[in-house]
Amino acid sequence: MPIDVRIDDEVRLRKPHPCGANHWLVVRVGADIGLKCMKCGRKVLLPRSVFEKRFKTFIKRSRPTLDDIASALSQKGGIE
Ligand SMILES: [Zn+2]
Repeated sequence: MPIDVRIDDEVRLRKPHPCGANHWLVVRVGADIGLKCMKCGRKVLLPRSVFEKRFKTFIKRSRPTLDDIASALSQKGGIE
């Protein structure tokens, strides 16, 4: 299943940047994913398939996902 990555999401990858940080800001999405290192500011462009292999977790979402909304609703006992 493709990763629902969006601009301004912050992500952690399986390997840190050579500068030592492992905190990336998503600056471009499409066939390629553009990432900016939050420590040194270096930008990289990864083909989506490579990004999905290296992706570890979201640090911060730019906006709630459908899953977030669904789980928030279920915690309140559903829509109705
Ligand atoms: Zn860096």
